[in-house]
Amino acid sequence: MKQIIDLLWHRLTGIMPGELNQPELAWLALSRAHTPLLTRRRALLIINRVRLFAFLFAVLTPLWSAVDFLVFPFPLWLRLAVMRFVVSSGLLALLARYPPSGRLPNAYRALALLFFIPAMFYLSSDTLLTTYRLAGFPAAIGAGYAFLPFVLLAGLSIFPLTIAENLTIAIPILLAHSITGYLHWSASDWSFAATLWLLILITGVSLLAGISQLAFMIALVRQANRDPLTGVIARKTGEEMLELQFNIASRGNAPLAVAFIDLDHFKSINDTFGHDAGDQVLMTMTDIVGANLRAGDTLARWGGEEFLVIMPNTDLPQAEAALARLRGIGFGMRPDHTPITASIGVAERMADGSAEWKALVELADQRMYRAKQGGRDRVVSA
Ligand code: GH3
Ligand code: MG
Ligand code: MG
Repeated sequence: MKQIIDLLWHRLTGIMPGELNQPELAWLALSRAHTPLLTRRRALLIINRVRLFAFLFAVLTPLWSAVDFLVFPFPLWLRLAVMRFVVSSGLLALLARYPPSGRLPNAYRALALLFFIPAMFYLSSDTLLTTYRLAGFPAAIGAGYAFLPFVLLAGLSIFPLTIAENLTIAIPILLAHSITGYLHWSASDWSFAATLWLLILITGVSLLAGISQLAFMIALVRQANRDPLTGVIARKTGEEMLELQFNIASRGNAPLAVAFIDLDHFKSINDTFGHDAGDQVLMTMTDIVGANLRAGDTLARWGGEEFLVIMPNTDLPQAEAALARLRGIGFGMRPDHTPITASIGVAERMADGSAEWKALVELADQRMYRAKQGGRDRVVSA
């Protein structure tokens, strides 16, 4: 039994890219544990796509009024045109209200509006159309209005959403369709049930498309952010993470420490034992340090043999204790079996009164230099 489940699991996860690991697979269902960086990138992508979608809808929706005018009787086409104008204005307001932003709550609101506005249009136009007895060509055009839920549910597929997020949007649309189906229901006409089934299928396909996009995004964010030699976070991403952490710490009035680590006399390793030996030392050093940091801490490669450790919710004494522990464990060995040492500068947001993340790194860097001047193999804080 377990083998069958394992096999199914393998088949299923095999369609996802980059061999997502176990925690990352759980991220496909719920966004709660997503890293701040993934959340930010995803929010940006979602809001940009909402804007694209909203723009297309805002332009195309009123244009269709020309067709309505040609095929529908007088008050009907005008009423529909007014509704279309309202939809278009609503979507334009959405564009104005939600500029590109990396904040997920904004992305959620924009997304909800993007689906809410056309869903309301669908419900009201459908109610209006049923009060008319249309026949022939006008009836065919009128029937076209019933396709809006299909468009909406298919549109879901362009967003990198979790399963929970997908269902939060899809279920109300399916309910809206069920309600209109219930209102028109007659024992002789089961076409509503057939369309509902089709809508559920489209929801399933959109859901798969959405989570596979999310999976690609998780893998991409993970890979693009790594330094190829050591596998630790690369500088550019480190800066983005630090900025995020700095803003979180500022809002929550929480401490945030950074440590600037520069290996001592590293050049002599290259000079004496070759560049490959130097590379090996860097890889070993990052393995050791990475394995001995707290779960929320981040190790980033800032330059050649310079690293930054970002320690959220860590005050100065705690940071000093963590670094004393790291120095106790060591940074690995030189090829001649003497220990690698490092000069370390520490700065902390609250203790140093830093107003922005760059100032914090600057301070840590300066203190690292003081550690060098003081004779290397030491930590300098305030
Ligand atoms: P100090 O104690 O003053 O820090 O001396 P140092 O030799 O560590 O300092 P310096 O900044 O002069 O030397 C850093 C060296 O690191 C120079 C550069 O060739 C080497 N380096 C930078 N990136 C890499 C890398 O990816 N691999 C290897 N093997 N060496 C690198
Ligand atoms: Mg250096
Ligand atoms: Mg150095």
